[in-house]
This record gives sequence, structure tokens and C-alpha cells, in this order.
Amino acid sequence: MSLQNPIFIPGPTNIPERLRHAMNVPTQDHRAPDFSDTFLPVLADAKKVFGTEEGEILLFTSSGTGGWEAAISNTLSPGDKVLIARYGMFSHRWIDMCQRHGLDVQVIECPWGTGAPADQFQAILAADTNHEIKALMVTHNETATGVLSDIGAVRGAMNSADHPALLFVDGVSSIASVPFKMDEWGVDIAVAGSQKGFMLATGMAILAISQKALAAMEQAKLPRTYFDFRDMLKANANGGFPYTPPLNLIYGMRASLDMLFEEGLENVYARHHRLAEGVRQAVSAWGFKLCAVSPDLYSETVSAIYVPEGFNSNELTDHAFNKYGISFGVGLGEMADRAFRIGHLGSLTEVMVLAGLAAIEMAMVDLDYPITLGQGVAAAQEYYRNT
Ligand SMILES: *Cc1c(COP(=O)(O)O)cnc(C)c1O
Repeated sequence: MSLQNPIFIPGPTNIPERLRHAMNVPTQDHRAPDFSDTFLPVLADAKKVFGTEEGEILLFTSSGTGGWEAAISNTLSPGDKVLIARYGMFSHRWIDMCQRHGLDVQVIECPWGTGAPADQFQAILAADTNHEIKALMVTHNETATGVLSDIGAVRGAMNSADHPALLFVDGVSSIASVPFKMDEWGVDIAVAGSQKGFMLATGMAILAISQKALAAMEQAKLPRTYFDFRDMLKANANGGFPYTPPLNLIYGMRASLDMLFEEGLENVYARHHRLAEGVRQAVSAWGFKLCAVSPDLYSETVSAIYVPEGFNSNELTDHAFNKYGISFGVGLGEMADRAFRIGHLGSLTEVMVLAGLAAIEMAMVDLDYPITLGQGVAAAQEYYRNT
């Protein structure tokens, strides 16, 4: 693999030069009085990206998955009932994690390629008149299938069922790349990670927590130690961390927020839409199909693309890596061997996307795919040129 080539896996994403430098800081004393000067504004500014004024931001040293464990263990008790729809690898993982925590998980099975089923949530919640369901957990952007779900519609379903369950949203591959409106959607915990939309190295889970979730925290009985929100909140209130903070990532986060705000969040979202649409134009020019079943579900951060009958998507991604030194996402779970993924989030330009499309076309032609060189690239070029 060439270190000069951008990567097109949906995460970790390409780290811009500016952020690599920002993370390169000498060791500092995190108990020195000036640590809070760096740390507290990062928490305050991160709220804008989550779309919250009322929520609290908490940072934990872990990947995004640890953020989910923190959300579950801080707000729920053994045997609590939770409702989750499975429509891809990531929603599947949260089901597994809840089950391993001894929760009673009611699973809605959905075809992969579809999204959060607001209608079914509404019916189940409306029937739960004793309010036994304590939380609803939704994957905003299902990275395995390239599906972006409508969280506003999920909140609408909860409201119309007049149900008080907590709403947890996995925004690991959406937050900082597409609009996220925590307060407006009534999200109680939103989880992100440093290595996707924030364009940083892996290692920091970023959570936003509503006042309602903080109230639930006081009643929750699941064991938690390292991820205990209470320890973190107490230390943060004094400007510090309960243990050694990931200093380099916090400096990186400062610079990442600066970059996002300098570009303007609306422009960041518009750029992701444009990049994604160029990829979709290429897919349709190849005559291939996306896993996402309808345009309203298309993800702006990752496209999962079925290869034609008789071809193996893992051979394609391996070949692209071995011959051209470039990485694309492999098919996950039910999509293994059948689909590959083009990640188009984070630090990326039109020119980079065109390079990625050109490279995957070479790999496809090498493997006798029924396309010609330039077919998808030209469609993306036309789209970028004319819009
Ligand atoms: C990447 C990703 C995760 C997992 O995050 P890690 O940082 O690898 O633990 C969770 N959910 C979604 C939707 C993701 O894309």
C-alpha cells in the first residue's frame, strides 16, 4: 500500500496534515492549572457539532464502541428492556453488546439496506403501555450498508406513541459529516469517535448526553468503573480528567473543530453530499446497485456497492490494494464477498474521489468486470463539473 494514496475505507479516515501536526505535542502535565484552558473550550465547542446546547459532552479514551458501552452501562439496569432494529453490522453489534450486559433486547429484524423502521417503533412503543422499554437504540448511519436513517422520524414515532424511553443514537460515521440535531431530535445519548468525521487518529469516544440521560444515570444499576459518567463529570467540573487524558487527541480535537468551523458546518455537510453524489453517479454509470434500497436512505458518508453476479468483492478490494496500493472497504456481515464500500467522509476533495474511482475502475477491468475504463469516472466528472 502507498502512504501517499488516500484511503477509501469509511474509517479511520484520512488525517489532514494540519491535524497530524496538531496531535504532535510534547508531553504536558494534565494536572497543571492550564490544562483546563485547552480542555474546556473543546467540550463547549463540540456541542455545536452535535447540535446541542443542553447536553453535556464527555470524552473517553477508547474507540467508538467504548462510547456505546459507556452509554449502556451508565443508564440501564440488568434485565431492562431495550428496543433495537437490526439492519446491518453496526446495529447488530449494539444488540450483541446489550445482550452481553444482561439486558432484555427486543429485536426488529429488517432487511439489510433498509433503515430505522419508525413505523414499527411507533407500533411497539404504543403497545408498551406499562413503559417497560427503557431505551431505543438506533444506528444513524449504518456503515456496513451505506444507509442513513431519519432520526427525526424516530423521535416523531416516540412522541406519537407518547413513550418516555431514552433514545440513543450511534453517530460514529455521521456526526461532523452530516447534520446532527441532538436537541431538536430529542436524542438522549449520541456517540461519535475521533477517527471518522473528526478526521483524527483513533482513540477517543465523544459522547453527548442529555439531562434526561443524566437523571437516568442516578438510577442505573449496571456495573461501570472506567466508563462511569459520574467520575468524568466530577473531574470535568474542576477542569480535569479522572485519569490520564488522551492529550494528543484533545489537541487534535481543538484543531479539528477549528477546521470544521472555518469551512462552516453547512459547507462541510454540502461537501459530503457532493462527494457522495459523484460516487453514486459513477455507480449508476457502471450499472451497479447500491445496498441502500432507496434514495431517501442513501448515505452521504459511505456507499456500499454490490458487485455483479459471479464476482467476489473481496477479490476486488484485495486486488486494488495489492496492485494499486489503495484501500476500499470490504463487505461486512451479510455483505461479505457481495459488496465493497467506498468511504467518502472526512478530509476528502472531489479530486481525491475521482482518483479513487479511477483506481477501482482499473482493478475492476483487470478482473474482467463488465465496465470500461472511465465509465464511472466520467459520470462523476460531469457531476462535479456541472454543479
Ligand atoms: C466505525 C463505527 C463504529 C465503531 O467504532 P470503533 O471506533 O471502531 O469502535 C460504530 N458504529 C458505526 C456506525 C461505525 O461506523
